[in-house]
Amino acid sequence: MNRWTRLVQYDPAPGDPTAPTTTPLYQTATFRQPSALGEGSHDYSRSGNPTRDVLEERLAQLEGAKHGFAFASGMAALSAITRLARAGDHIVACSDLYGGTYRLLSKIVAHQGIDVSFVDTTDLEALGAVLTERTRFVLVETPSNPLLCITDLNAVADLAHRSGALLVVDNTIMSPWLQLPLEHGADVVVHSATKHLGGHGDLTAGAVVTNDPDVAETIAFVQNAEGTALSPFDSWLLLRGLKTLGLRVERQQDTAAHIARFLADHPDVTHVHFPGLENHPGRALHEEQASGPGLLVSFQTGDVELSQRIVEESQLFGIAVSFGSVHSTIGLPCAMSHASIPSGERTLPADLVRISVGIEDPDDLLVDLAQAFATVRRTLRVAAA
Ligand code: PLP
Repeated sequence: MNRWTRLVQYDPAPGDPTAPTTTPLYQTATFRQPSALGEGSHDYSRSGNPTRDVLEERLAQLEGAKHGFAFASGMAALSAITRLARAGDHIVACSDLYGGTYRLLSKIVAHQGIDVSFVDTTDLEALGAVLTERTRFVLVETPSNPLLCITDLNAVADLAHRSGALLVVDNTIMSPWLQLPLEHGADVVVHSATKHLGGHGDLTAGAVVTNDPDVAETIAFVQNAEGTALSPFDSWLLLRGLKTLGLRVERQQDTAAHIARFLADHPDVTHVHFPGLENHPGRALHEEQASGPGLLVSFQTGDVELSQRIVEESQLFGIAVSFGSVHSTIGLPCAMSHASIPSGERTLPADLVRISVGIEDPDDLLVDLAQAFATVRRTLRVAAA
């Protein structure tokens, strides 16, 4: 079956005698048991819920995995993954990564007796130098957030495995529609399903998928023991969003490519970061491991005030953290999504603007960006006069 068909053709309610055509919302905390010994297929929604079961099956299937888990947020999913490490272990993470993940690793995990190293995973020599026999896993975002740097998944998997570590990939920026890390040696894939998977900016959710039975056992245990599973209602919403994943992402990345070219030609822009552009340093590698550039574009102007004003002058791009929604958004990562990284430890350029492209008309978005640049230039000229 083709992947477009698979997005919508599946059993939406296994075992339901009424055969509904979409998955029902089992909005219940508990399930009556057939006997005092329990024995029901479900007993309590924290431990398992039929709506979430269908979702977890879908999440696994989309990534080509055997086991899938849905969490209350991407951070809850990442936090569950950190439970794979114990005091005395070591975790390696890529240095350009989501600010909240940096905060989790540096402010919580590092205080549990687990060593954490941040390293540029696009540099295999640098990665090789920090791996030890204590390294439990290497966590990579590719493209990274928000600089869109590309890490070689096969090579990093190889390095990690040789030192006995797992490779965990945060695949949020690509979604399984564009990149399947398990096919490139990854052992675990994690998502903020708040982004492309949900796709409508109306829920927070996270996902973990894996083929490794030991990892799956730990994650299932942690999800139940820490009570971080996704609620039935949000599972139901996420199932709805997933059906249009392909339609949304294909359109969004087409428009993102137009916007990246517009920015590359704009005299006020000094750098555009988009793996679909000819001059992107990781483009060839990205094309080997992913089937499209994605819907995030980031750019620099060389001037923080100019960047800030452009963000504020755009009308159609809402100023918002997060990305992957049907609505286009814009933001300054240093002040917004990555503000949780202390400025002294942050390597991000302060003038960096990140755009998440939605499903609006591409020309409307281009006209809006052009007017934002023009308005800012005009007001700066007036102020200088
Ligand atoms: N991973 C990436 C790449 C993200 O961008 C984010 C959030 O922006 C997260 C994880 C955390 O996900 P959530 O906000 O759903 O907790």
